[in-house]
Amino acid sequence: MKLGSHMSTSGGLFMAIQRGKRVDCEAVQVFVKSNMQWFGKMPTEEDVLRFSEEWKQSGIPHVFGHTGYLINVAAPDSEKRATSLKSLIQEIEIAAAYGLPFLVLHPGAHLGSGESAGIEQAVRGLDEVFTATTGCKVRIALENTAGQGSCLGHKLEHLGEIFSRSKHQDRLGVCLDTAHFFAAGYDIRTRAGWDDAIGAISDLVGPGNLLAFHINDSKTDLGSRVDRHSHIGEGKIGADAFRHVVGDTRFKDHPACLETPKSEDLVDDARNLMLLRSLCAAPVGPKASTSPGSRAAKRKG
Ligand SMILES: [Zn+2]
Ligand SMILES: [Zn+2]
Repeated sequence: MKLGSHMSTSGGLFMAIQRGKRVDCEAVQVFVKSNMQWFGKMPTEEDVLRFSEEWKQSGIPHVFGHTGYLINVAAPDSEKRATSLKSLIQEIEIAAAYGLPFLVLHPGAHLGSGESAGIEQAVRGLDEVFTATTGCKVRIALENTAGQGSCLGHKLEHLGEIFSRSKHQDRLGVCLDTAHFFAAGYDIRTRAGWDDAIGAISDLVGPGNLLAFHINDSKTDLGSRVDRHSHIGEGKIGADAFRHVVGDTRFKDHPACLETPKSEDLVDDARNLMLLRSLCAAPVGPKASTSPGSRAAKRKG
């Protein structure tokens, strides 16, 4: 995997690239506007130019966005849901202006209306959003979730159903979060458990639509349905599991970002990335071949 981290855009979106460079990120995730507000400012030409130059110069292969936390496309019809759709449309427009390929989105919470009603709302809402942004290349990567409260997405089937019922599958994909897998009950600590989960989502949406990964350890137990990220190796998933995760050769060119606690000096990111890179020094193929050595030695980056 191309490893990196979620980076703050404080000071401008281009600053996220500078921060990413400081810890040798090969992937950077950003919020394209404040994640706790409905709407943000559209970027000026100058903002876009500054960002594009910084990105190009950095050599970082992957930069993508994560949508704001207020957006809930699975809610029953209400003013908030209508605002969610408008907010998502604006985020797509901002992402398009910056040339980002996709935005990660949580499928939303049904708020008591039930899973199937929530999924129906998500399908309809996303169709509306894609229609309103016709001609725009930015995709939405649905993220698997821990399944707190009435949040959808803890069952991979939820993502599969939204995907298969969408009228705009070319605009959809999936982002997989390791901590969310674990909290939702997918035991990815073993190679077999990881392969099962990947196999299941690949069958549901097609392997080509797995767009990105979030690499987090989990403070909470398997199946807890509680979403708390921890540093790699300091949670209940444990460092060893990340060997078959980040070393999975099927995803050697996929972006994979940390979403773990950090301070401004990025020492935590540096430490987590160093650990992950040491773990995936020996890549692991899709059908476990444990022979180390030659392939690992040839591998770069
Ligand atoms: Zn997320
Ligand atoms: Zn995540």
